[in-house]
Amino acid sequence: MCKLSLINNLIKLFLPEVCVACGVELLQSESGACLKCLYKIPRTNNFSKENNSAEILMAGRIPFERIATFSYFVEGGVLRPMIHKLKYYNGKNLGLLLGKMFGEDLLASDFINNIDVILPVPLHPKKQRSRGYNQAEVIANGISEATKIPVITNNLTRLVFNPTQTKRTKTERWKNVSGIFEIKDSTVFESKHILLVDDVITTGSTIEACGYALQNCDNLKISIATIGEVL
Ligand SMILES: [Zn+2]
Repeated sequence: MCKLSLINNLIKLFLPEVCVACGVELLQSESGACLKCLYKIPRTNNFSKENNSAEILMAGRIPFERIATFSYFVEGGVLRPMIHKLKYYNGKNLGLLLGKMFGEDLLASDFINNIDVILPVPLHPKKQRSRGYNQAEVIANGISEATKIPVITNNLTRLVFNPTQTKRTKTERWKNVSGIFEIKDSTVFESKHILLVDDVITTGSTIEACGYALQNCDNLKISIATIGEVL
């Protein structure tokens, strides 16, 4: 056992970790949230629904095949504190588990057929350094564990730290999304069907900005998957 996990276990002994959603004391095998709350997450089950709410949000903004979201991100819901934990309180294990659960759901539908590569939305390197990890990549790794589809993290990079998120017209948005992300080698994704993965879809502007950067890859198909969807 490494020194850090020994210290962590000692801390747990005196200060047992509790579920972020219900506050119950966690078992040794659990991390971040209890199994009861994890299985209580209400699913959107929108994988096979054409024109689902996420697809309507992104329609006409970037070319895509399909969009799947795991659960709705609502005030008072169990998913909200879990995503908060994943993003701000070193909830990597919880994120991996959420990704795995999502991946298993996707496997049970035909959504995952023909996907070649999983591509997590990258963080700006500065932000990733301060957080220590990219939460979208953690989710992508969980989906990959369930589906056995490889994750690629070194070909799409984020150049701009913090783009504005305000509502804009279509033309203004295109200006706003250009140059936020950059593809290093467009041939890597040539003729591939990629699954773009993020933690939560809110305005869709981050996904749109990734789509803008990916447009130079020849014969590329994009599907999108996020754990949370803000309605
Ligand atoms: Zn719980």
